[in-house]
Amino acid sequence: MSQVKIVENILKANDQIAFQNRLQLDTHDVWAVNLMASPGAGKTSLLMCTAEALRGRLRVGAISGDTASQVDAERIATVGIPTIQINTGGGCHLDANMLQAALAQLPLDEIDLLLIENVGNLVCPANVKLGEHLDVVITSIPEGDDKPYKYPNIFVRVDAVVINKIDLLPYLDFDMEGFKKVVWGMNPNAQIFEVSCKTGAGLDVWVDWLMSKRANKG
Ligand code: MG
Ligand code: ZN
Repeated sequence: MSQVKIVENILKANDQIAFQNRLQLDTHDVWAVNLMASPGAGKTSLLMCTAEALRGRLRVGAISGDTASQVDAERIATVGIPTIQINTGGGCHLDANMLQAALAQLPLDEIDLLLIENVGNLVCPANVKLGEHLDVVITSIPEGDDKPYKYPNIFVRVDAVVINKIDLLPYLDFDMEGFKKVVWGMNPNAQIFEVSCKTGAGLDVWVDWLMSKRANKG
């Protein structure tokens, strides 16, 4: 079998498990969001400040993917939400199998919104479905405004782009209007949010959107 064929078959098998994951989530009325980003963009921080902002409105659960450590899950658990760590054993993305194993350990009937922190990487997470309802890419001001040019595949397929660390805008060159123009050129339906987990700026708009997507199932 050719290398391409093998990869195609693996993705097909993954999609079947992703479909089962989606059924399981829907059975328990859990809305799942796949958070993707490069390392350091603030996935863990956004997950935590989102959970804080939703306290009393939606019951949030978390799954944190990492190549080796537990540190993110330990941080997230301090917010007081059910959290499962997935260690990929060096693997550079989560897959549907890993999510299935994590779902089995979560109290799904006590969760309305499941935030999934994917492994820090802007390449392959874009191609591997988990069974999630929404795909979100997080980028941050210190990373610069050229990420959509370098990683178009991920920006093309997401439902939303969260620009994190906007408190740093006064100190760094980041062409916000130019960035948005490029994203909307690739993906006219993408929602773009500007947030800072440090100051709390923009979080209200972001969590309102998550709540409305969940309420309207899409
Ligand atoms: Mg993290
Ligand atoms: Zn990968």
